[in-house]
Amino acid sequence: MFYLQREEYDAVVVGSGVSGGWAAKELTEKGLRTLVLERGRNVEHQKDYITEHVPPWDMPYRNRRITPEMYPEQAVQIRGNTVDSGNRHFYQNDKRHPYIEAAPFTWVQAEVVGGRSLLWGRQCYRWSDLDFEANLRDGHGIDWPIRYADIAPWYSYVERFIGVSGERLGLPQLPDGEFQPPMELNAGEKFVKEGVERAFPGRKVTIGRSAVLTRPIGNRAACHYCGECSRGCSTGSYFSSQSSTLPAAFATGRLTLRPHSLVHSLIFDEDLNRVTGVRFVDTETGDMHEVYAQVIFLCASALGSTRVLLNTRTSEHPDGLGGNSGALGRYLMDHHFRVGASGEIPGLLDRYYEGRRPNGIYIPRFRNLAGPDSDRLDFVRGYGYQGSASRAGWSRGAGMAELGAELKQALRDPGPWRISIGSWGECLPREDNTALLSDKTDQWGIPLLEINCTWGPNEFAMRRDMAQQAAEMLEAAGCRNVTTFDNFEDGSYGAEPGLCIHEMGTARMGRDPSNSVLNGYNQVWASPNVFVTDGACMTSSSCVNPSITYMALTARAADYAVNALKRGELVKA
Ligand SMILES: Cc1cc2nc3c(=O)[nH]c(=O)nc-3n(C[C@H](O)[C@H](O)[C@H](O)COP(=O)(O)OP(=O)(O)OC[C@H]3O[C@@H](n4cnc5c(N)ncnc54)[C@H](O)[C@@H]3O)c2cc1C
Ligand code: SF4
Repeated sequence: MFYLQREEYDAVVVGSGVSGGWAAKELTEKGLRTLVLERGRNVEHQKDYITEHVPPWDMPYRNRRITPEMYPEQAVQIRGNTVDSGNRHFYQNDKRHPYIEAAPFTWVQAEVVGGRSLLWGRQCYRWSDLDFEANLRDGHGIDWPIRYADIAPWYSYVERFIGVSGERLGLPQLPDGEFQPPMELNAGEKFVKEGVERAFPGRKVTIGRSAVLTRPIGNRAACHYCGECSRGCSTGSYFSSQSSTLPAAFATGRLTLRPHSLVHSLIFDEDLNRVTGVRFVDTETGDMHEVYAQVIFLCASALGSTRVLLNTRTSEHPDGLGGNSGALGRYLMDHHFRVGASGEIPGLLDRYYEGRRPNGIYIPRFRNLAGPDSDRLDFVRGYGYQGSASRAGWSRGAGMAELGAELKQALRDPGPWRISIGSWGECLPREDNTALLSDKTDQWGIPLLEINCTWGPNEFAMRRDMAQQAAEMLEAAGCRNVTTFDNFEDGSYGAEPGLCIHEMGTARMGRDPSNSVLNGYNQVWASPNVFVTDGACMTSSSCVNPSITYMALTARAADYAVNALKRGELVKA
């Protein structure tokens, strides 16, 4: 490898996914000439959605479930159950980007411009002070340096731009936002909602809060319910970097986007005692480049950003930038899920639904709302449920006794209603859940991450309650043949850490550089012109989907960065 010419920008953003797109938009709109480095290939909005609206019979393997045997180069990605022939080309090649699992950990990643913003499920929930104060209250992890009031205006700012549809509920644990009109529950979901809310006063069943438009914004159209969002959306009806933030950044004329650019480490100037740039590999040529900037935003996804920090080793920071805190690469979290219940909804056989609504129902957290052990449970924190009701399709014929014409006739009509609800639970920040550098390297000489993450007693105790409460709610609502499920298998795959694709922590925010990597504005204590605004920064995990919080933190940090730069505080010669 050799170094090419020196390039300079005002800002460099690493990664172009959910948080990188936001950093690019905010920094360029505030006047900074910004370079976005993305390790994956380019995906152009509309033109590169090559499988959009392609029917199953024209897809490889008729779009049936794919397996690692079919695509060994994506064996890890396929574990996640979200990969199919229609979206496989957005996910990463696992052979090119390996990692080491000291315990089962499924690391699901995109490897394209836009990152996982093209693939995500779009569920958007604000955090509340129940979450920001959780560590302080029950003593797990360190206190967050911010509170809901610090981030609330930024949630509003983000929601107005990306478009979030949902129902206002007035719940303190799940603050309302600037919502577009909600999507509608179907008849089965309304049945369950009435039953649950009658039997459990205080619990709510609502439509998911989703970054899918029910009203147009600019040239982005309202959703037409085609239902294959993870293939890309030409009408821009869901939030992705392609539909939303990158076009805004390009419109300023100040954005340079460089795909095939894998960041190796940050350049630390020992004399200036700060980071001055970024070292990256052009993955097409193998050449190493250096680029210099006053401000750097690491948005390479939680573990991607931490890997860059860990690989930035200097004489003063032998364990990586931020490593002196003892927190870098530690306190890894994910939500634990794949536990809940399902059952049959009686009747409603004259009711059906239209289109393929890209959204489900949500049951907000109801456990431990007033603090630790307020419900006298054997766990702290809480969980929410996501799910949906639908009528069984023709594939139910596999289990039917009829044959021939009789069977065909029986399958012409939709089957009975069923509902399934699964829980998403908070995971505690534990020091021994780690992602650290190993001695092995990838083909470009970058040390691989070795990930060692397991669920603890709090998560297991919570899972028992998650399954039990799911069943109790469905039964109380009048569902029949209710059964519970829990896919966790000790030492194996099924509900292992990482699978929920909400990996968080490993470069947490805090109030003290001796136990945190970042301050309250996402600045690396050891070099305040470096900001980490993806999931790496999270000090706890809440139980709600995290990405809108990364977006709000990114917009807030970018605003702070540009103002601090103007005041001459960020970079001193
Ligand atoms: C199927 C699925 C469903 C999901 N559903 C939801 C949901 O409903 N709600 C929710 O909140 N979240 C959801 N998520 C999670 C969500 O996608 C992530 O939280 C979010 O994308 C994280 O944003 P990010 O910017 O940190 O990372 P990403 O969006 O993954 O972007 C990171 C980018 O950085 C690039 N990169 C990595 N390393 C380097 C490097 N060294 N140099 C250069 N570039 C690099 C990657 O290629 C990638 O493009 C879901 C994810 C998936 C896959
Ligand atoms: S369901 Fe809606 S958001 Fe999803 S791809 Fe279709 S139009 Fe776009």
